[in-house]
Amino acid sequence: MTKQRLVILGGAESGVGTALLGKAKGYDVFVSDNQKIKEKYKQVLIHNEIEWEEGKHSEDNILSADIVMKSPGIPDKVSLVKQIHMKGIKVVSEIEFASMFTNAVIIGITGSNGKTTTASLTHHILKQELDVGLAGNIGDSFAKQIIEEDYKNYVLEISSFQLDDIIDFKPNIAVITNITPDHLDRYDYKFENYIASKFRIAMNQTKDDFLIYDADDEVITSHLKQNPIQSTLLPFSLKKTIENGAYLDNDNIKITIDNNQIIMPTTNLTLEGKHNIKNAMAASTVAHLLKIRKQTIRESLENFQGVEHRLEQVLKINKVQYINDSKATNVNATYYALESMDAPTVWIVGGEDKGNNYEELFSFVNEKVKAIICLGIDNEKLMRSFSNTVDIIVETQFMSEAVKIAYKIANAGDNVLLSPACASFDLFENYEDRGRQFKNAVRNL
Ligand code: ADP
Repeated sequence: MTKQRLVILGGAESGVGTALLGKAKGYDVFVSDNQKIKEKYKQVLIHNEIEWEEGKHSEDNILSADIVMKSPGIPDKVSLVKQIHMKGIKVVSEIEFASMFTNAVIIGITGSNGKTTTASLTHHILKQELDVGLAGNIGDSFAKQIIEEDYKNYVLEISSFQLDDIIDFKPNIAVITNITPDHLDRYDYKFENYIASKFRIAMNQTKDDFLIYDADDEVITSHLKQNPIQSTLLPFSLKKTIENGAYLDNDNIKITIDNNQIIMPTTNLTLEGKHNIKNAMAASTVAHLLKIRKQTIRESLENFQGVEHRLEQVLKINKVQYINDSKATNVNATYYALESMDAPTVWIVGGEDKGNNYEELFSFVNEKVKAIICLGIDNEKLMRSFSNTVDIIVETQFMSEAVKIAYKIANAGDNVLLSPACASFDLFENYEDRGRQFKNAVRNL
């Protein structure tokens, strides 16, 4: 029998992982990347005798595929991808391909904000009692872990781009943390397309599967009303009592599944902010479903150290707390960062604007922000939006300078918060680079 030809577009983590899995499963594999492939991935391809090319897509080699795995970064509108579709070649994402080769229990976590935090926290709880991997947009690819680790359970952080190219993928437990406008350039600037993409996480689920979601998020609840789904629903809420699911009762999270309730205090949670109570509810609901002991869940919530660049406490200098929230690349994430500030705050904000509307931040800024430092190439919109709201608003294009200005303005007891509400690509390589530069600048003070 001739081998099936698997072509992989994009030679990074998910692409190279898929190549390894494809090769192990007997496919004839070809990896094509129109950019340079990173040296570490090249070495893996060479070492495993997998055919590859970089700096181009040679159409003949690609259009002969039986199946194409497309990296989530490549949009559908690219002409090569259009050609592939036109030829009727099956296009899948890495999670679709990888999930064909495992019977593990899958917990799939998506949403506009909170995916990494919720997935990491869920993994942190489950790993105390279960054999469980953490993959998707985090760390080693899902495909690679299936060959190398073969866990019995996986927590997957899943972006909407990964969901766009699923066919049969079905998580046993799905989580939608929230839905706010993001990445609209990939969805014809239609919010409803982006919402529909997120809900694909549940499209193959049956009543034996579960969807955990934020019942306070009207985008989610109204979509569910108009498009009922098969899954068993387990909502969580900060605002109302939930019979089947999770809610906040004073300082306790209460989670009920099949009349079995567990109660956990929020007072000792290591993660701060209301949004993190939601993330904790989602993660604990998964854990309760998988029968993790209540004591284990409670202890895990109390010793989880958080994830870098998400409201990360960096240092206290002269009684001023410096906080790195570089991963806040949209207004909604920054909303929760400002909400969780409990002291006068010097706020470093700005970068590449994604069509931001800052109005929803006005009341927090009024109440808590004593100075704004705009850190971007184009700060005009920020200056216009906030110059009437705060007394001090300045501009810079250097992180070190931003931090030095903040240091001068902040008094004992204040916070200095980097929560940009924007993408980082105007001045930095990515949000990690931005966060690291912030931390270095703070350490240098
Ligand atoms: P994602 O992986 O979806 O980008 P992260 O966990 O990396 O989410 O968090 C991204 C940003 O959003 C951080 O600034 C974080 O503090 C904030 N955040 C985390 N959880 C939530 C949530 N449930 N709702 C809104 N913002 C959140």
